[in-house]
Amino acid sequence: MTPEFSEQDGVGVHDALQRLWTPHRLSYVKGEGKALGDQPEGCPFCRVVELDDSAGLIIARGAEVFAVLNLYPYNPGHLMVLPYRHVPDYTDLTLSETAEFAAFTQKAMRVVRHVAAPHGFNIGMNQGDVAGAGIAAHLHQHVVPRWGGDANFMPVIGHTKVLPQLLGETRQLLAEGWKAVD
Ligand SMILES: [Zn+2]
Repeated sequence: MTPEFSEQDGVGVHDALQRLWTPHRLSYVKGEGKALGDQPEGCPFCRVVELDDSAGLIIARGAEVFAVLNLYPYNPGHLMVLPYRHVPDYTDLTLSETAEFAAFTQKAMRVVRHVAAPHGFNIGMNQGDVAGAGIAAHLHQHVVPRWGGDANFMPVIGHTKVLPQLLGETRQLLAEGWKAVD
């Protein structure tokens, strides 16, 4: 299924993800599920791998890394690339993990471009609590699509969907895009 990019909803910026989204993160309960875990047992990223893809918001699984939608997005389509192994630091990755981590990051950019034509990206890792890592114990690379005037989609009143539903639809778009894009 190919998402369409028509300009029919009048939101101002026109692409699949932004029509799907709007300001819902504002009303979302922040902090839920964000418990810090030094051990894999307490780690939400380790837990999410055990769920099925839609329940875990997982976009794609590789041999050693996976891509998952961020539950606390800065923008629609904000996803993360993570190793399955519960390690905190970029230097902890093996050579093959590093290669797949990089390949998944590139693929994530291609997929988001295919689905939603962002104007740019912020990509990176916060290493350690002091650097702003929400879950510092499990390495994760953020892939955040950016649009000129991202703020355009923020205050839209009267949208009835709630964030979990939007996240689910966004995950599906990206997971389908993952299969469609080389
Ligand atoms: Zn973990």
